[in-house]
Amino acid sequence: MARTPGAPMCADAGTHEIAPRSGVAFTLDKGDRLTVIDPRGEQVADLLAFNRHDLDEVISSGRTLDYASRIYLTTGDPLYSNRSNVLLRIVADTVGRHDFLLTPCSADTFRIIYGDADPHRGCFGNLVHALAPYGVAADRIPVAFNCFMNVPVDGATGTFTVEPPLSRAGDHITFEAERDLVIGLTACSALQSNNGSFKPIHYRIERGRPGEPSEGARESVADRNALPPGA
Ligand SMILES: [Zn+2]
Repeated sequence: MARTPGAPMCADAGTHEIAPRSGVAFTLDKGDRLTVIDPRGEQVADLLAFNRHDLDEVISSGRTLDYASRIYLTTGDPLYSNRSNVLLRIVADTVGRHDFLLTPCSADTFRIIYGDADPHRGCFGNLVHALAPYGVAADRIPVAFNCFMNVPVDGATGTFTVEPPLSRAGDHITFEAERDLVIGLTACSALQSNNGSFKPIHYRIERGRPGEPSEGARESVADRNALPPGA
């Protein structure tokens, strides 16, 4: 896939910043690690992963929660696809509370829940925009893995609420890619999910499994982080 200059703004060496209420897309190779960081605390990041070689395969909340028999996932838990393959595995997590029930916030979310007359496009619109150059259509976007989103559920009634994230400044969650992937990632746009303010998200990519020699033919991480044309 052709690349253009203009990678996301660097927060520090090797770390990229997603501006408040925006989103990015990039690729991972099998064995790469992605760390999503909440630099200021109480900020959610919606994460999507597609099989890079077949975009009809995508992370599945339903499959993952079914196989885990839990709704709260953390270190060691796999994120399964709609075809029951593991796309990502959580390998580190300093928070231990994330959501995999709720769909990305959208203009409709803000219209229906917040009553906004001229709503922001939300994580959904940001993901559609960021993923379009990779060939992902809007109707393919499923429930995202919502890093740091805090949705406690009343076990007796099933009632849930969206509460402030438990993440504090510098908290992070790390995923390892078990397939070649296209990733979508946002700094969430919903007031309620982020305790009333919109903050950036940082992310970092480490190539290959630790201790494995890197493949010389592989494109550089900087290239792979570059936004695709039109992003
Ligand atoms: Zn959102």
